[in-house]
Amino acid sequence: MRLMDLHRRFSRTLNYIRFGDEVRIDAASHCQLRCPVCQEWDLKARVGGGYLRFEDFRAFVERYENFRRIELSNNGEIFLNPDLTRIIEYAHSKQIALRAENGVNLNHIRDDTIEALVRFGFKSINVSIDGASEETYAIYRKRGSFSRVIENVRKINACKAAFGSQEPRLKWRFIVFGHNEHEIPAARRMAEGLNMAFELLPNVEPGYAPLKDPDFVAREMGYASMAEREQAGRGTAGAGWYCTGLWERVQINWDGRLLGCCVNTQPFQHNVFEVGLGKAIRATEFRRAKQMLAGKDVGEAPTICSDCGIYRERVARKDFVDVGRFRDAQWRRLRASVAGALGRRRWMRAVGAAARGVPDGGPR
Ligand code: SF4
Repeated sequence: MRLMDLHRRFSRTLNYIRFGDEVRIDAASHCQLRCPVCQEWDLKARVGGGYLRFEDFRAFVERYENFRRIELSNNGEIFLNPDLTRIIEYAHSKQIALRAENGVNLNHIRDDTIEALVRFGFKSINVSIDGASEETYAIYRKRGSFSRVIENVRKINACKAAFGSQEPRLKWRFIVFGHNEHEIPAARRMAEGLNMAFELLPNVEPGYAPLKDPDFVAREMGYASMAEREQAGRGTAGAGWYCTGLWERVQINWDGRLLGCCVNTQPFQHNVFEVGLGKAIRATEFRRAKQMLAGKDVGEAPTICSDCGIYRERVARKDFVDVGRFRDAQWRRLRASVAGALGRRRWMRAVGAAARGVPDGGPR
């Protein structure tokens, strides 16, 4: 085996043990809609307006071959990225599974991108559609068009049928407001007709368009009351899940700056595309944020989490991140890598022995 191959394999294994096999890179921070609660304008000042370039994606994937699953959606609309089709094709050539489960609005998508999604096995897309009619949808999704989104879903479905593919799996994601709650049953039926899974999400800004019939919405969500739904959305199993991004499935901004989790919009000092992931996450500020989330006292200096409502809730509930589970996961990956390497050696010995005509288990 050539020295270069050996080095590549070693780096891949080491990075797999350290970082796992999943990462999140925002494909675009631009959005063509103007949803009232969305922080898009403020966001631009923090994460910058731009898109993930194909060359950056390729260089990252070549450097970190351990990442087999990549989430592309975060702050913007991924379909506004002009390099997306090339990114999808390249990821497929490297057997990387792409997802857009943080959400897309699907108001605009090129035909060649639709074909790439299906042909190259893009795994799953969650589409934000908050209503079942043009009038209701447009109240929140300003500048958006309900009929255009549904038309784009149909185009994807037609392409899936033409290729005989189940991918990408589509989910209709409906954020419930006071102005659209009456359309939940109709939206659910439409989703079924379009072969889409269906999910209801609560509005995170209760001051905007509060619910008119919370009991009805709770029942539609599968809970006895909204209080029960809120309770279920708390802790690490709920909103606190986002914090785990600092340990696994780390979030990277479109330009390579480290964000950590998908809630954070204040990039850390290091750019992963420039200095690498290892150096970026070893930086003091990033480590301090992790210590805070683990419930340790890190003094007065603020971190990205200091102003986050999820962190405040963690403190109030004394519900901190269980760091042990990430160490356990690293140990599991280490053990699996060692077992895999030993298994490979045994297999190669067996093939060698068969070729020499001696039984396996012979002289070693
Ligand atoms: S507390 Fe920190 S890690 Fe958790 S969601 Fe907020 S910014 Fe992200």
